[in-house]
Amino acid sequence: GELPAEPRVTALLNQAHARWAEVTAGEVADYIPALAEADPALFGLSLTEVDGTVHRVGDTAAAFTIQSISKAFVLALVCEAIGHEEVHRIVGVNNTGLPFNSVIALELNDGSPMNPMVNAGAIATTALMPGTSAQEKWWTLHEGLSRFAGRSLELDERVLRSESASNHRNQGIADLLTSYDRLYADPAEMVDVYTRQCSLLVTADDLATMGATLADGGINPVTGERVVTPEVCRDTLSVLAACGMYELSGEWLFEIGLPAKSGVSGGIVAIAPGKGALGAFSPPLDRAGNSVRGQRACAALSRALGLNLFASR
Ligand code: GLN
Repeated sequence: GELPAEPRVTALLNQAHARWAEVTAGEVADYIPALAEADPALFGLSLTEVDGTVHRVGDTAAAFTIQSISKAFVLALVCEAIGHEEVHRIVGVNNTGLPFNSVIALELNDGSPMNPMVNAGAIATTALMPGTSAQEKWWTLHEGLSRFAGRSLELDERVLRSESASNHRNQGIADLLTSYDRLYADPAEMVDVYTRQCSLLVTADDLATMGATLADGGINPVTGERVVTPEVCRDTLSVLAACGMYELSGEWLFEIGLPAKSGVSGGIVAIAPGKGALGAFSPPLDRAGNSVRGQRACAALSRALGLNLFASR
């Protein structure tokens, strides 16, 4: 099925925004000191269709660091580079059932990074980016994520410095992966590239376009450029469905029925294959690190727009 025509889509976006703007539940992330300064009132919803049409309401041009949402697009670039089998074999695709920065998950699974959406798996995935040095991997990654967005993404140096000075846990995870021979590059350098990818600035509009590229078989519907293959989109979206919302991925799928990825700065991208993608931004988070308003708005819109993948009618 198709999405409803305008002005219906914008009316539904406006409704969801007005309804959930009043909700003040959730906490702004503060374990990365620079993130604690985010304005909890910011709230934007953007929807990009696979034909390139964009619908938006609220703070959709407010810039925030992409954080864990980068994991989805780095996975796509790595799938494109090394293929389905190698991603399965080296990183894995099963949910840990544990928080995104869990160390126990690694220890319980013989050092397997488990999946590309938790920090261990994301650092292992970043290490698989093409390039013979950390610098080259970073350039390829930055260029690739920019192609998903259809514009050159800027780095937030302040957030990068703040997280780099406080990310002992990610350094520990990378060292632990190395001790299991599961990280195929220098651990300190890979944590640095990973922290950089998390510090790229995006908007809700960017998230919708990036997601719509995955919904459109790898063609950015705004620029018309092919970024990845349809097979890569299929593989990436299945991992997002299983693991994109961390240990709450099951509940998310039960309520919303779409592959999605969240990040601790308050972004969510939810992808409706063949139709388009929602980009949401609102900093207050639930206990797993998912935007509270973003989740509720996505749930309402998935229902109203008929996006749930598991609905037969
Ligand atoms: N950069 C953050 C970290 O590694 C990303 C976490 C997230 O968005 N869930 O902790």
